[in-house]
Amino acid sequence: TEGDRVLTVEGVHAYYGNSHILHGVDLDLDEGEVVTLLGRNGAGKTTTMRSIVGVVPPREGTVTYRGQQISGMDVDDISDLGIKLVPEDRRVFPTLSVQENLSLAKRLAPESDRTVDEMYDIFPVLAELKSSNGQNLSGGEQQMLSVARALVQDPDVLLLDEPTEGLAPVIVDDLREVLRDVVEQNVTVLLTEQNVQFAFDLAERGYIIDKGEIVFDGDIEEIEEREDLLEDYLSVS
Ligand code: ATP
Repeated sequence: TEGDRVLTVEGVHAYYGNSHILHGVDLDLDEGEVVTLLGRNGAGKTTTMRSIVGVVPPREGTVTYRGQQISGMDVDDISDLGIKLVPEDRRVFPTLSVQENLSLAKRLAPESDRTVDEMYDIFPVLAELKSSNGQNLSGGEQQMLSVARALVQDPDVLLLDEPTEGLAPVIVDDLREVLRDVVEQNVTVLLTEQNVQFAFDLAERGYIIDKGEIVFDGDIEEIEEREDLLEDYLSVS
């Protein structure tokens, strides 16, 4: 039911080597929400997502998923719980076809009820490219494939790291429509974006991160109206 807490990030500190990047990040996601994490380049958005999925394990603080502490768990175990990151660099397998990329993802999540054919319904552009190799897809097509690979694994929580990066405006429109369908399917989403308008269009709630700290959180309508926030933290004015 709506209002149920799915994910809680509490006081998370993260480092790359000795570089202290996250300084006590707090955020939470409720069932079925689309929440955006906004901030300038280098503010710590990607690192926050990597901390949640265990790629950059928190050195302090906790991440809790449906009541279970996941910080400290292995990346694969966190993924198996249904928390999937679609990274900024997309990482589709270049020499595998679209079909093979999707089948492989599906095989890695045998408990998923979703099928590759369903993905072709949601992403018609991929249906036309079934036998094309990953490396021959455009940036937008690769982004669709990345999202589809995560979705075929029937994620409970989807972390989308700057999905519009490098995409032509018309492709961004397509992606927005597709993601609207995705969020109808009972997935809880955390979205980071440099394209603030894209995030505003999709999310209900947002957090603003600056220098590894959450400096604001609130409803999207409120963030949209706060020109001071947009100027100070998002380079928009
Ligand atoms: P971007 O839009 O650039 O991805 P971001 O908000 O996602 O911005 P992060 O990628 O989380 O920011 O980076 C936060 C800080 O960590 C930056 O100062 C960045 O230079 C640094 N950083 C990121 N990755 C590494 C790494 N692998 N090793 C060392 N420092 C890193």
